[in-house]
Amino acid sequence: MTSTSSRQDPSVVIIGAGMTGIQLVIKLKQAGIKNIIVLEKTHDVGGTWRENTYPGICCDVPSHAYTYSFEPNPEWSSFFPSGSEIHAYFKKVTKKYEVEKHIRFNQLVTRCVYDEESNTWAISNADGEVLQADLLFSATGILHQPVIPDISGLDSFAGAKFHSSQWDHDTDLIGKRIGVIGTGSTATQIIPELVKLAGSKISVFQRTAQWIVKMDNRDFSDKEKQQFRDQPKRMERIRTWSARFWAQGTAALVSDRWFDRLTHKLVSWNGLRYLNKSIKDPELRAKLTPDYTFGCKRVVINPLFYDAIQQANVDLITENIDRIEPDGIVTKDGVLHPLDILVMATGFDATAFMRPMEFIGKSGVTIEQAWAKKFNAYRSMFLPDFPNFFLMLGPNSPIGNQSIIEISEIQTEYAIKLIDQWRAGKLQTIAAKPEAMQAWASMLKERMGHTVWTSGCQSWYLDSEGDALAWPDKWSKWVAAMQTPDLSDFVQN
Ligand SMILES: Cc1cc2nc3c(=O)[nH]c(=O)nc-3n(C[C@H](O)[C@H](O)[C@H](O)COP(=O)(O)OP(=O)(O)OC[C@H]3O[C@@H](n4cnc5c(N)ncnc54)[C@H](O)[C@@H]3O)c2cc1C
Repeated sequence: MTSTSSRQDPSVVIIGAGMTGIQLVIKLKQAGIKNIIVLEKTHDVGGTWRENTYPGICCDVPSHAYTYSFEPNPEWSSFFPSGSEIHAYFKKVTKKYEVEKHIRFNQLVTRCVYDEESNTWAISNADGEVLQADLLFSATGILHQPVIPDISGLDSFAGAKFHSSQWDHDTDLIGKRIGVIGTGSTATQIIPELVKLAGSKISVFQRTAQWIVKMDNRDFSDKEKQQFRDQPKRMERIRTWSARFWAQGTAALVSDRWFDRLTHKLVSWNGLRYLNKSIKDPELRAKLTPDYTFGCKRVVINPLFYDAIQQANVDLITENIDRIEPDGIVTKDGVLHPLDILVMATGFDATAFMRPMEFIGKSGVTIEQAWAKKFNAYRSMFLPDFPNFFLMLGPNSPIGNQSIIEISEIQTEYAIKLIDQWRAGKLQTIAAKPEAMQAWASMLKERMGHTVWTSGCQSWYLDSEGDALAWPDKWSKWVAAMQTPDLSDFVQN
């Protein structure tokens, strides 16, 4: 790629070949852009679904909703598919749309620098090789960099220990004493699988009780799959139902309207009812009862956890962890919980975005400087000092319990509309004006006060000021905001 490529035939670099990177290639090609290179640090596509192979991993969004809009899949085996099935789907789409020829595997991007004179990006990999591109996309994911808990003595643990996203399949789990730190979405998928292991003893370390909603999984019959093949509208109906369901669910978290407040009351009541009906022992029930508003932390969708946590070979420990010793975990009350294996289901750094990497924009401004006070991006995607850069799934994207595929596709379409304007010469560069960014940030701040996220809980949604990184309004408002770029918000010729 060269810096002289014209606006008609721009060069594009995409960092990351996960769900977002794959569909970016497909849609950019459909928009007439041919000069596309994807840099992927690993050997395969699929991102999250390639990486996370822990027992029990599955989608908590219905399969037909967790599917590209342009590639419905009548073959989904179940309502909530497994991680490996989702990975296989992305591999199939990659092949069908000939995405692979654009991908360079085993390329860890370590540095991106914007050059004002040529209006291009220089993108370096770990070997020091540099690519030049007119347009740069970060598709590095939102839940990608594992959080390793900062617990004293962690390194001294004598047994096998690993983060849930780096599952060690060579470790034999049978008959072992396994500690699981965390009770979020991932832990609640892992624990029901671990309790089934012969002779195992599971100690679950919980910091905060979760709101759990039961949605049963079930396999699709051959007859249903045939109906999906013959009548694609059936799949479309599931997508629409899912989108509406989650849209109303989100409205209950962000809106003061009476109907949305009522929905919030109903879902909270339903969550407590499920807990009370499922957990027989009052002491255990008390430990599992959340002491914060429904939805303040990401709601866990899981039909198996409450049953698993009541099995005879499981202990739920709510005493805080003091330290880790070679033989196990010591809680603040001085009790040693002896362990052979330690699983850290401690989540991801949702504020890492494209980092760790050096990211340098106009006049040498680094991304750390740009985000020194707050993680902000105009419409989640654009930073004034970083022209021609598109941050996919950036701050305040409407992540939550919605299908992230839909979000990613909407952001891609918005980006392409802007690229079209730039190619038509209406924009000098694709860069949000600082005042547009400020107005966007003020709107978010004002809206944030109306959401349950600021009601007082600790969550990966929240930044250091206690504001959520999620979209603080209804899904429909976000979709409307992402329909047509307002060119007056961008630097023009
Ligand atoms: C355990 C788990 C369960 C989830 N369940 C759901 C769910 O049920 N529903 C839902 O909607 N979402 C779910 N998500 C969110 C999920 O991450 C997204 O749905 C989706 O996979 C994001 O795709 P992505 O391509 O944006 O990012 P990722 O899938 O994270 O892919 C990012 C890619 O970028 C690459 N990369 C990162 N940094 C670099 C670099 N510096 N250089 C080169 N390459 C780089 C990575 O190797 C990776 O391949 C889940 C996430 C996790 C972790």
